[in-house]
Amino acid sequence: MLKCNEIVEIIAKNKDLSLLGKMELRFHLFMCKHCNSYSKQISIINSQFKKVIEEKSEIEMNHVHELEDQVIKVIKAKLEKKD
Ligand SMILES: [Zn+2]
Repeated sequence: MLKCNEIVEIIAKNKDLSLLGKMELRFHLFMCKHCNSYSKQISIINSQFKKVIEEKSEIEMNHVHELEDQVIKVIKAKLEKKD
């Protein structure tokens, strides 16, 4: 079974998953209301990142990845407090 921390990272980094992994992810999101709400937040953040990149092409991808990592850290810290 995937842990909440792993779920957050998979969603935030848009990691490639096997079919089984995708099913596990869906199952986890269905069962876990915390990850479900975080996955929604992350998808909003991701779409905002894309907008920023499209609008400001001079932004380096490295900087975007840094921001992603910061967001993941914040979310993980919140998840750990709930456990
Ligand atoms: Zn979870």
